[in-house]
Amino acid sequence: YGDANQKIDYVFKVVLIGDSAVGKSQILARFARNEFSLDSKATIGVEFQTRTLVIEHKSVKAQIWDTAGQERYRAVTSAYYRGAVGAMLVYDITKRQTFDHIPRWLEELRAHADKNIVIILIGNKTDLEDQRAVPTEDAKEFAEKEGLFFLETSALDSTNVENAFMTVLTEIFNIVN
Ligand code: GDP
Ligand code: MG
Repeated sequence: YGDANQKIDYVFKVVLIGDSAVGKSQILARFARNEFSLDSKATIGVEFQTRTLVIEHKSVKAQIWDTAGQERYRAVTSAYYRGAVGAMLVYDITKRQTFDHIPRWLEELRAHADKNIVIILIGNKTDLEDQRAVPTEDAKEFAEKEGLFFLETSALDSTNVENAFMTVLTEIFNIVN
């Protein structure tokens, strides 16, 4: 992916939020390293990964922050949101509760983050369609009402992962240009 010697025109911080086990870390692993693991290993402390891509002939370094387990303790701090220009609000399409918690996450985000932050709602695990508990329409409607972008993804089979990041990064790029 990235070329270490490449000149960077922009660095965009994007935060991943949502309930535990919805697939945030695997979405990030898929985007940053094109990897996926079925083992959910709890990570300690805040961490981020980067990937550099080109948008309209400019090199953009996406710095993607992962809550790394803090979501379990409701301990996502304002430092996590500081400087973020994008946010990915993730739920699991097979777990209704993770979607029902989205308004709370959105409230958290709006309380701590910049008011112009670009937000995408992501329904992850579309490969588990037979276990779907959240209709696409419900999420779409919520996203429209709240002015969020919306996509359903699968970190497992890669569906829409690239698309989700590009949607956010391109929108941020358009705002700063
Ligand atoms: P996090 O707590 O939100 O970071 O969730 P993880 O990324 O650790 O994922 C939790 C569990 O869901 C792990 O067992 C992952 O392998 C699994 N998982 C993540 N994304 C997907 C997906 O798109 N499809 C399926 N079937 N499993 C997934
Ligand atoms: Mg995680």
